[in-house]
Amino acid sequence: MFEDLRELYQEVIFDHNRNPRNFHVMENADRQVDGFNPLCGDKLTLFLKLDGDIITDASFQGSGCAISTASVSLMTEIIKGKTQAQAEELFTLFHEMTTGKEEHINLEAVGKLAVLAGVREFPARVKCATLAWHTLDAALKNQQQAVSTE
Ligand code: ZN
Repeated sequence: MFEDLRELYQEVIFDHNRNPRNFHVMENADRQVDGFNPLCGDKLTLFLKLDGDIITDASFQGSGCAISTASVSLMTEIIKGKTQAQAEELFTLFHEMTTGKEEHINLEAVGKLAVLAGVREFPARVKCATLAWHTLDAALKNQQQAVSTE
């Protein structure tokens, strides 16, 4: 990865950690699921509003490390207006990108999420990055119980 690209990615992560987007409790959410990553202590509650198949709004609350906060902040931004199937597709791409199962990441398909591709070099941090997405997956499947990465 080019050095300047790496710096840009880090800047985006810092920015989302300092100023998380959609960081609030949602009134009358259609879905609400807690996620927990015991390995790091990351905790979040994800809120979704759905209109049929479309995710019309997403927000979160919680506390965690910079990677987990940036990841859930970016995720809530990117899934708004997506269909549930499109969101699940992004989850698959994101999982492949962060676990290194896919060597050639389709940067266009993952958009801004590409800033988190670097976690694949730090296996202990992969769960920080994927916690938000596992929680989203549970919310879309309408599971009520809390999600744990362990
Ligand atoms: Zn973490």
